[in-house]
Amino acid sequence: MTLHNFIGGAPAPAASGQTFDNPNPATGQRLAKVARSGPADVDAAAQAARRAFEGPWRGWSANQRADLLDRIADAIEARLDELAALESADQGKPVSLAATVDIPRAVANFRFFAGAARHQQLPSHPMAQALNYTARRPVGVFGLITPWNLPLYLLTWKTAPALAMGNTVVAKPSELTPMTAGALAEIIHGCGAPEGVFNVVHGFGAEAGQALVAHPGVKGISFTGGTVTGQRVAATAAPMFKKLSLELGGKNATVIFADADLDRAIATAGAAAFRNQGEICLCGSRILVERPVYDRVLMGLTEYASSLTVGPPDHPDTTIGSLVSLDHRAKVEGYVALAREEGGTVHCGGTRPALPAPYDQGAFLSPAVVSGLPISCRTATEEIFGPVVTVHPFDTEAEALEMANGVRYGLSASVWTNNLRRGHRFSEALDVGMVWVNTWMLRDLRVPFGGVKDSGVGREGGDWSLEFYSENKNICIHLG
Ligand code: NAD
Repeated sequence: MTLHNFIGGAPAPAASGQTFDNPNPATGQRLAKVARSGPADVDAAAQAARRAFEGPWRGWSANQRADLLDRIADAIEARLDELAALESADQGKPVSLAATVDIPRAVANFRFFAGAARHQQLPSHPMAQALNYTARRPVGVFGLITPWNLPLYLLTWKTAPALAMGNTVVAKPSELTPMTAGALAEIIHGCGAPEGVFNVVHGFGAEAGQALVAHPGVKGISFTGGTVTGQRVAATAAPMFKKLSLELGGKNATVIFADADLDRAIATAGAAAFRNQGEICLCGSRILVERPVYDRVLMGLTEYASSLTVGPPDHPDTTIGSLVSLDHRAKVEGYVALAREEGGTVHCGGTRPALPAPYDQGAFLSPAVVSGLPISCRTATEEIFGPVVTVHPFDTEAEALEMANGVRYGLSASVWTNNLRRGHRFSEALDVGMVWVNTWMLRDLRVPFGGVKDSGVGREGGDWSLEFYSENKNICIHLG
């Protein structure tokens, strides 16, 4: 199968005619050949998106767009099993996870933003002699650039509000996981979107991604990916005054105080470390534990990690699938070796499981729990983005705070305590965009999502998304 671009309502091969191989990371077998796009393809897509923006799409009311979003949600839901299998084959995650998290969340993204757009409330500021009211206008063509860890989940998190607010889209999914973006394009157009409203350009970041960010017809960029890539994106987009949202890396702390409900804390800290093979930006990859319960938590985490089933992603009992690629596994294995060099003890995992063919060619790695590392070492401060967690003791709340805040990232944290005051106090003092107390990754789509420091700029979610994907315009009417 060849996965083409989707431009102006129809599949289109790359202008160069080139393709690249997209393997299933669990088996090494080729899933598809994918269009290898460059500036010419991006330009064609941006022009198609511009024509749609200035053409039929402009006449759609907010309610019509919301109805379209609801139809898209229904269509994704109707194909849930097929899309979950496709996402799993492309990314390596357990199909059970894709079927219960990734694809349902894609459905929820469209349903949520259909409702949010219908129920928007915009301010008015009356004066004695005039009335100000705020209108929100679409921005134009948005470039949406997404990573490989949650392919459809994150693409729909951007697409739904972008379309709800009347923009048109050129999407550039990760070259490692392009499959469900292709399916989404067909679904959106099958649901009645005018041609050119949603376009997909496949290819590598330096070729297709960079061209999309630099295209003068693309008025806004929503980027989710690594911090170094985010710097490049910002360097290109900022001088062109594009609207820009950057959701970047993380090295999130799970902080467990001795008074916490430890059974729940251990199980949730384990899930936070290893869900989706540890390939979630919100994963808690550093676990800070108050010393009196340190041994118990370390043992509990090691037992938790050892109880996970690493295996074929399409097997119902599998809880840890394949990493996204052999290259990424090599990077993660490099961190396990580094942890040992830095003086750490690896209590479990960090090894390749013995699996039957064809899975012996896959990028599997058993989940690793590491202790004994200084909090400032590379293993404990750099984003690994795989199934490796480090565990560190602390003695005081102040020390825990210093450890939690002592990294360049500031995306999220999970704090475990039954002391309500401490829960508040500690959450307020953390340098992160999102804190969970006695839980992890409990998401309400109305709340702001994003990070501080090197984890990004801007917020998406709820009204923050509607605001980002629009221009606020004040209209002042004299009443005399
Ligand atoms: P990446 O930065 O390598 O790639 C992300 C996307 O950017 C891909 O589509 C890629 O092709 C594209 N790209 C690469 N170079 C580009 C360039 N010069 N110009 C434009 N686009 C370019 O990231 P990744 O390895 O795919 O994903 C993992 C990273 O994503 C991790 O750091 C993770 O923390 C982060 N992430 C963050 C969030 C969040 O919400 N904060 C969510 C998921 C993942």
